[in-house]
Amino acid sequence: MYRNLKVVPRVVFGRGSFDQLDAILEPQRKGSGIMVFILDDFFTGKALDKRLPLRDGDLVLRVNVDHEPKTTGIDALTQQVRDFCGEGRLPDGVIGIGGGSILDTAKAVSLMLTNPGPSHEYQGWDLIKFPAIYHVGIPTLAGTGAEVSRTAVLTGPVRKLGLNSDHTVYDQVVLDPDLLEGVRETIPEQWFWTGMDCYIHNVEALCGTFVNEYARAFGEQSQVLCREVFLDHHAESDEKLMMASYFGGMSIAYSQVGACHALSYGLSYVLGLHHGIANSIVFDYLEDFYPEGVKEFRAMAEKNHIQIPRNLTSGLTEAQMEKMVEVSMGMIPLWENCLGKDWQQKMSRDRMRRFFERM
Ligand code: NAD
Ligand code: ZN
Repeated sequence: MYRNLKVVPRVVFGRGSFDQLDAILEPQRKGSGIMVFILDDFFTGKALDKRLPLRDGDLVLRVNVDHEPKTTGIDALTQQVRDFCGEGRLPDGVIGIGGGSILDTAKAVSLMLTNPGPSHEYQGWDLIKFPAIYHVGIPTLAGTGAEVSRTAVLTGPVRKLGLNSDHTVYDQVVLDPDLLEGVRETIPEQWFWTGMDCYIHNVEALCGTFVNEYARAFGEQSQVLCREVFLDHHAESDEKLMMASYFGGMSIAYSQVGACHALSYGLSYVLGLHHGIANSIVFDYLEDFYPEGVKEFRAMAEKNHIQIPRNLTSGLTEAQMEKMVEVSMGMIPLWENCLGKDWQQKMSRDRMRRFFERM
């Protein structure tokens, strides 16, 4: 069976397009009229905060993302929205404005408002029963592809796993490159880590056994854009990175990520590292799998004066090392994509452990 891919049905792209948001939301205000804006609290009091197209009765949730989203946090936010709306009422829309963490938070809240019980019960594939509240994603960092993906990645009591479903996909995205302004200058490392998430998505999709022309078309173009951004510092880098992220997300949506993401999930689970930086740490050791990609990645790091953190696992306990291996071993489709159906013959627990010991 071929995948019947659900994609984002409506996209606005362009500088200043954020100001169209009020007009986009207007026709959706047909029930309670309430819109819930979930804003990265980095923007509290900043210009973007003041540009939210608020109407009477709307709710703004300013959410901190120092830690990546957790199921408990999602449940608390969902309850806050319910309490605000009152018995028997729901908002007409949930709008997420921020990086991947906020994009996933807004997706998850929009799902949990219509699906009963705690969010950790929906970590997995196609467990969501009812369509979400209308939801809009507006990225302010580019790279994760969360704006187009069918998952909202959450850390739960037992595992870090997404709410993967067709209902998770945004109804609308607004891609305004103006919102990336200053990211490279003010948080150059974060800009790089999140951008490399995209670059790595492409390498893993393009080198994977699951690749097909659909995934390749998006992945190759995304790589072209990544090179223009991270090697050439093109004048229109914000536009290019925003589209690279979108295309990278489209590429893995119809293929899969690979060894880097599999190992990076283990590393972040134990060390609490964020997704982008964990991927960069791991990728630097994967020349056996992705020789060309790793070479180019290193050139990008050098060009942007980025030091990849090292020596992170030497002080870990035996139990922590084993947990890392266990989490990574569990990423079966990712290993299959990278190494083929007989991946276990090529990636033993020992070999995996040795990768982690070097990091
Ligand atoms: P992030 O959302 O975690 O944000 C990183 C930091 O950048 C935060 O401190 C944030 O406040 C700040 N920030 C955001 N926008 C900014 C701006 N314009 N200017 C200055 N600071 C800004 O980072 P991310 O790398 O975009 O997202 C990582 C998250 O995305 C992880 O939780 C990961 O699990 C998730 N993810 C999801 C998918 C998916 O398909 N759903 C894919 C990959 C990663
Ligand atoms: Zn990723």
